[in-house]
Amino acid sequence: MRIRRKKNIDSRTQALFNEIIKVDTSIKNVTEANKNKAYIDVEKIFQREGALYIEIGCGKGGFIKKLSQIHPENNYIAIEMIQNVIIMAGEAVRNANISNVKFLNIGAEYLPRYIKDESVSGIYLNFSPPFPQKSYECRRLTNADFVERYLTVLKNGGFIEQKTDDRDFFEYSFEMFKKCGLKVENLTENLANDSENIITEYESKFLQQGLPIYKLRAIKE
Ligand code: SAH
Repeated sequence: MRIRRKKNIDSRTQALFNEIIKVDTSIKNVTEANKNKAYIDVEKIFQREGALYIEIGCGKGGFIKKLSQIHPENNYIAIEMIQNVIIMAGEAVRNANISNVKFLNIGAEYLPRYIKDESVSGIYLNFSPPFPQKSYECRRLTNADFVERYLTVLKNGGFIEQKTDDRDFFEYSFEMFKKCGLKVENLTENLANDSENIITEYESKFLQQGLPIYKLRAIKE
């Protein structure tokens, strides 16, 4: 049973050859990997120029699918470490004939290995796991190491936009962005009233539970 399921995942991944960018993931040590550059040729992959935006932890892809349709002039790379999940996102984008979104099946910690320094206009972080225990801080996608990686790939003036339902994680991230020299603006404590907001899969569950959604934008100056 397990083998059959895996086979299915592999064939679905192969069918997404146009959506999922093939990269060499053989170097597992993060520091080592990020020193050994294997930059993606973004213009070749999208077959055009365009501002590049990245989503980290795209899940099933609902957010990036909508955002890319609102902004057909931009190029988007959505990152997700779980293969079964990224397949669903890839299939959704392929079925909608969207050509300005590509996917990377990697852990976000490897971002600087594949994305050129100072080439990204904005990074979206939607409902990343908050990892409340202090001992798991190393996994939070807004800890100092992650923010430094984002700063490496961001252009000056580029942004990190974060949404979460977790107040402690939100405050932690806010402090971390400031500590790393970003300018934090557009703080929102309850997104429910924002008509331009693109609701993600996780967000819609939290909204149904009546939870407030927090959002901020941090700028690299
Ligand atoms: N953004 C989606 C999914 C949120 S769940 C939504 O709002 O509906 C968080 C997602 O982040 C999960 O799919 C998880 O696999 C992914 N994720 C967590 N840590 C990651 C990492 N280090 N690199 C890449 N993806 C990660």
